[in-house]
Order: sequence, then C-alpha cells, then structure tokens
Amino acid sequence: MTLKQKQYINGEWVDAKSGKTRDIINPYNQEVVATVPEGDETDAQAAIAAAREAFDQGDWATMPATERGKIVREIADFIERDREELARLESLDTGKTVEESRGDMDDIAGVFHYYAEIADKNGGEIIESPLPNSISKVVHEPVGVCGQITPWNYPLLQASWKLAPALVAGNTLIMKPSEITPLTTLKTFELMEEAGVPKGVVNLILGAGHDAGAELSTNHDVDLISFTGGIVTGKKIMQAASTNAKNLALELGGKNPNVIFADADFELAVDQALNGVFFHAGQICSAGTRLIVEESIHDDLVEALVERVKQFKLGSGFDENTQMGPLISAEHLAKVEKYVETGIKEGATLAVGGSRPDDPELQDGFFYLPTIFTDCTTDMEIVQEEAFGPIITVEKFTREEEAVQLANDSIYGLAGGVFTNDVAKAERCAAKMRMGTVWINEFNVYFPHAPWGGYKQSGIGRELGKLGLEEYTETKHILQNT
Ligand code: NAD
Repeated sequence: MTLKQKQYINGEWVDAKSGKTRDIINPYNQEVVATVPEGDETDAQAAIAAAREAFDQGDWATMPATERGKIVREIADFIERDREELARLESLDTGKTVEESRGDMDDIAGVFHYYAEIADKNGGEIIESPLPNSISKVVHEPVGVCGQITPWNYPLLQASWKLAPALVAGNTLIMKPSEITPLTTLKTFELMEEAGVPKGVVNLILGAGHDAGAELSTNHDVDLISFTGGIVTGKKIMQAASTNAKNLALELGGKNPNVIFADADFELAVDQALNGVFFHAGQICSAGTRLIVEESIHDDLVEALVERVKQFKLGSGFDENTQMGPLISAEHLAKVEKYVETGIKEGATLAVGGSRPDDPELQDGFFYLPTIFTDCTTDMEIVQEEAFGPIITVEKFTREEEAVQLANDSIYGLAGGVFTNDVAKAERCAAKMRMGTVWINEFNVYFPHAPWGGYKQSGIGRELGKLGLEEYTETKHILQNT
C-alpha cells in the first residue's frame, strides 16, 4: 500500500506540529495498519489560515464553475481508477466487507461525478425590480472557508458528500476525518492533489475531535461547519459555531423505524429487515433498528429473522463468505454490550444473539453477534437510544395509526421504511412519518441526486442533491440602477 501518512496543509504533506502520532488499527485483528500524525488545534489553525488565504487571495472561488467541475470530474475518475485499492483500505480501517467497500467506492465516484455535472447549474436569476431603469440580480456565491468533520462508519462516503459540493461551489476547506478511520480520506487528498486542486483549497488535519475538531467549530476564520456524527457532539459543535454565527450543517444519529404490515411481501420484508440493520454490523446512521410489526405476522416474522440470523457468517471483511465484520473498536463493543444488558434489565426478550461469538478465530476482533429483542415497548432505552450496533428491537401494532405513532415516537427523524402491498396505505404512512427519508418496500438506498438529512434531532440541512450544493453557497441580491 502506498499511502502518505501525513496531514495535507497548504499543498504540503506535513507531520503534526507536536510530533505526536496515532496508530490506526484493523478492528478484525487489532493489527496496526498505519501510523498517522495526531494533529491538534495548532495544526487546525495552520490549515484554516491556508484555506482563508486560498479563498481570499486565490482564484478558486472566482474561476468558472465549469473549470472547477473538470477538476472534480478528474477526482471521480481517479477514484474509479483506484477503486480496488481504496476499497481494501476502507475494509482494513473499518472491518467492513470488501464487497461493501467496493459498493461505497462506486457510490463515492458517483457523488463526485454528479457534482461535477451540476457545477455550472448553480446560476442565479434576474428578478423584477420595483424601481424604474434598474436590474435586480440574484447570484449564488461560495460561503468561504468550510470546516468538515466526519465519522468513522462510512469514512469516505461521508467525506465525499461534503468535499464534492464544497469544491464545485468554489469554497476552500479543511477536513477532519474521524481519528479512528482516516485512511481512505487521506488517500483521496492524494488524488485531489493529483487532479490539480490548487494549493490551500483543500486541507486535511488528523487528530481527535476535542482539539483538532473543536478548533474548526470555534475559529472565526471558518465560515461554515459541516458535521456528520453523533448527537452529543453535534450539539457541542452547534454551540461552538454560535461564537461567530457560522453557517451550520448537521447530519446526526438515527433510531430508524421499519414498519412491516401483514400484507407485505414476507420474504422481501425479511430480507430488507436484515439488510436494513446488519449491513456494516448495524453501524449505520440509517439502520432500521426499530422493527414495528403487525401483530398477526409477528411470530412468523420473528421466527424467520431468527433462523436467518443464526446462519450469519461473521469474519474477516476480506473473506468473500463473510456477511458481517467486527464493530469498530473495543470501546464501541463495550457500549453495544451495555445496551444489550440494559435491554434485558428493561424486560425485553432476547430472541437471538446477545453476546460475543465464541468462535476462537474471532477473539482478536471486536465481534458481536447479531441480536434481536422482542417484547419491546417504546419507553425502553433499547428502543429509544442509538446503540449503533447489530441490534434489532421488535414492537407490535394492530392499527395503521398506531404503527405511525410508534414510528414517530423518537427524538430522531432520519429515515424509516414501510413494507406493504397496499399502495395507498404506504403513501399515507410515508406522508405522516416525520423523517427525512422514507423507503417503501426498500431500505437503505441512497443516490447522489436524492437529498439526505434529518428531521427533529437527526440534523439540520441536507446533503446530496441540489440542496447539498446550496448548503455551500450564499445568496446575494444585486440591485443596479442603469
Ligand atoms: P462522533 O460524534 O463521536 O464523532 C464524529 C466526528 O466528530 C469525529 O471526527 C470526531 O473526532 C469529531 N469530534 C468529536 N468531538 C468533537 C468536538 N468537540 N468538536 C469537533 N469535532 C468533534 O461520532 P462517531 O462515533 O464518529 O460516528 C457515529 C455517529 O455518526 C452516529 O451517531 C451516527 O448515527 C452518526 N452518523 C450520521 C450520519 C448521517 O448521515 N446523519 C451518517 C453517518 C454517521
């Protein structure tokens, strides 16, 4: 693997000013796969100064959008060229299967292509002026210097949702990936350099959230902060960003309902209920962790799920038979174990799972068995809090209104699913579900031109689609007397 294990600041590959480093480990076997700089607020300040200068004095913000689009298209091409290397690196870093990582890389290239394609479609308009002999123009301009902070679960996918629109809109940026999984983001900064992104336009700092990340959210030279991560961190960033009233975009957690009616295609519902959660071991913001099942099919559905889950093959992401890899870290594994203990204490029934696997080959990794709780009620912590692991809770309903009420009974509002063959019922439910995405007879499908984001405490703003580009622009009205 060729990978520059450095930060990228003002067009230079640099170590942390403090000289500190951090080992990046493979969660499958705890082997060190890379050692990278552990940046802190001083590195963040240098990166912010570089991005500020590139925005204020460089020509990135003012060059034709089509020119920026060409560079972003080249980044997409390089991601396609290096797909296999990137996918393997993502799996080493996160433990997810290489097959999943390959899918991520295709989606990521698609995101860069999409924004390259619409780079020149962010124009303004002429509006009617109330004054005689005058012209009123509305134009869209870049916001300025953007701080971008990403989580560890979909490292490069989440980064691409921020990098591509920020670049085509003409911003300069500083990205801080999760300290646990920075490797594919690092590689992509090499690709951005190769694509000819000018010095200072993109900067990468590595390190922990409480110093490197916190500096991005408080520093007055940062005009916008875009954050994807947990709700607790998101609220801290929101407070920090208030010091200079930064533009703010937050993509936070989810505790997503998946409503299954008795008239659904049973096999499809079973497949998607499993796919909705156990993909990447439940470490997905949009995981459909709350199954809300019509009483008449409850027992059959649970039995089918349990049978399938018992066959699940846990293992190395590099083994093509593996269906589920490990959790990301020992700390996260402990958190998931705690949630299972809580569920049992609260009176939920453990239908399957509920422990680490006993396979001796998996003992070095952070594995946890896929777990299903039945007899759940909406007041339980296990139903309300995001465990971010391979845990499904099952609740029963008898009436459509009750199903929607249970689905909405959450502080989160990221995504949800409805399974039924009754189109009118599906549409009624989708209309009443208070969340940013509703899938009908599907789960966990994203694409570049569909907006993504949360209602309620799942976030502020939208990524992807045209709205994802608008997040990175300011709108100006110019009235000119002629
Ligand atoms: P996290 O909040 O712990 O960390 C996310 C990022 O914030 C990391 O880069 C971290 O270093 C940084 N950070 C931590 N403290 C900070 C601070 N005080 N100031 C600035 N930055 C700080 O989240 P995580 O554990 O990495 O990711 C899991 C969470 O992300 C889950 O809650 C998941 O639902 C959420 N997520 C949401 C989406 C979405 O699209 N809504 C997508 C992926 C993940």
